[in-house]
Amino acid sequence: MSVVAHSSRRAVLTGLAGSVAGCAATPPVPLAAGFAPRRIAPILMEPERIIRITVCTRPFRPAGPRLDVETVGESRVVHNYGHGGSGWSLSWGSSAIAARKAMALAEVAGGPPVVAVIGSGALGLTSALQLQRMGARVTIYARERAAFTRSMRATGSWTPDSRIADADRVSTEFPALWEQMARETYATHQTYLGTEGDPVVFSDRYMLSGGAALPRSPEPPPIRTGPGIKPIRFAEYRLDGLAPRSIPLPASASPFPVGETRMVSAMQFNVAELAHRLETEFLSQGGQIETRTFNTPADLTTLPEKIVINCTGYGAKALFEDKDLIPVRGQIAWLAPQPEANYGLHFRGVTVLSRPDGIVVQATRNDMNGVGVDDETPDRAEANATIGLVAPLFPSIRRLPSG
Ligand SMILES: Cc1cc2nc3c(=O)[nH]c(=O)nc-3n(C[C@H](O)[C@H](O)[C@H](O)COP(=O)(O)OP(=O)(O)OC[C@H]3O[C@@H](n4cnc5c(N)ncnc54)[C@H](O)[C@@H]3O)c2cc1C
Repeated sequence: MSVVAHSSRRAVLTGLAGSVAGCAATPPVPLAAGFAPRRIAPILMEPERIIRITVCTRPFRPAGPRLDVETVGESRVVHNYGHGGSGWSLSWGSSAIAARKAMALAEVAGGPPVVAVIGSGALGLTSALQLQRMGARVTIYARERAAFTRSMRATGSWTPDSRIADADRVSTEFPALWEQMARETYATHQTYLGTEGDPVVFSDRYMLSGGAALPRSPEPPPIRTGPGIKPIRFAEYRLDGLAPRSIPLPASASPFPVGETRMVSAMQFNVAELAHRLETEFLSQGGQIETRTFNTPADLTTLPEKIVINCTGYGAKALFEDKDLIPVRGQIAWLAPQPEANYGLHFRGVTVLSRPDGIVVQATRNDMNGVGVDDETPDRAEANATIGLVAPLFPSIRRLPSG
């Protein structure tokens, strides 16, 4: 097994796929002769360009995602929730595990496999599609359709070990399970590369440090944690050899006037397009979606389907009274889209990622930020302060010749 667990604190790359593929622990790859970075367009990093501010609670479970089977009345419920900051990044693999469990239950029950999926976010959509691909007839029941779920408020990076477990509370078997989920998800997302609408792409990310010559940034937004929350040692894993590694750029090749630049090509989910694609695929293969809210587990027994996959994400805290589910608040300020600026970066604890539906600007400097906070009210002051941290980069961006 090639998964590597880290006990040290996550490097500054949180929120970038580079945390997996090219973190500081990876030895540098020598720069290819003649390499020159692409000319990049400056991002218009101004609060006046905010088009929306979104907040969502990551569903974090110290022991990792819940994937066990529970009996509720005459129904069998396969859980598939609690993926922290890695829901899109582990979706296909986790959902394949849940779908196989559901299919095994259907086989024991006899007759054609008929399964209900609760939830229409990253995990619900991929569970429903995995079940269809295994031959089941599937109905999704959800309070919110995909476009309105928390999954739509994700950054869109492949970050399979982002707040996925507490290193002190997770089982020794979990790293192998995590690796299985991460590998299958990485491979399945790639089947969407190069397809209409670009639901999944690879984009350049710049990890920047130094920058003493740049104007000083204003104060970063404060770190918020919920009452009584103790520090968590988030588990960190790395899969060697799976994704491209980051390369150091010499100052002459970096478009940014900072001390150190590393660049990596990383998987990016254009979440609006991806969710739309998955929903369309599910419906075109005979799937049904019904709007429904469940208030207690017993409500699930009213469904015609007796085998259910529970993909309610943070909603499982209330529905299944899961006291282990800890909210981790995350906010994104979205700037108006700039298709000409098709890259991402990390600087001064801020992640920036250009997507067709807007430019993500997100404070990611501290993993404890938002832990225990389930307030999803947008904070304009936090958005402005976050933009202020990276704004000094852009007026001085260097106009390099095309490479
Ligand atoms: C700021 C931020 C950035 C993130 N960035 C990334 C990223 O770059 N990459 C990544 O992989 N992950 C990222 N994540 C994490 C990712 O968003 C989550 O792990 C993922 O959205 C969880 O998906 P889900 O399907 O489990 O839950 P959800 O998206 O919350 O979907 C839950 C579904 O269940 C339904 N539901 C809930 N309760 C009920 C009920 N009682 N009755 C009926 N229906 C119900 C909801 O309506 C919804 O349809 C990020 C999270 C945040 C907060």
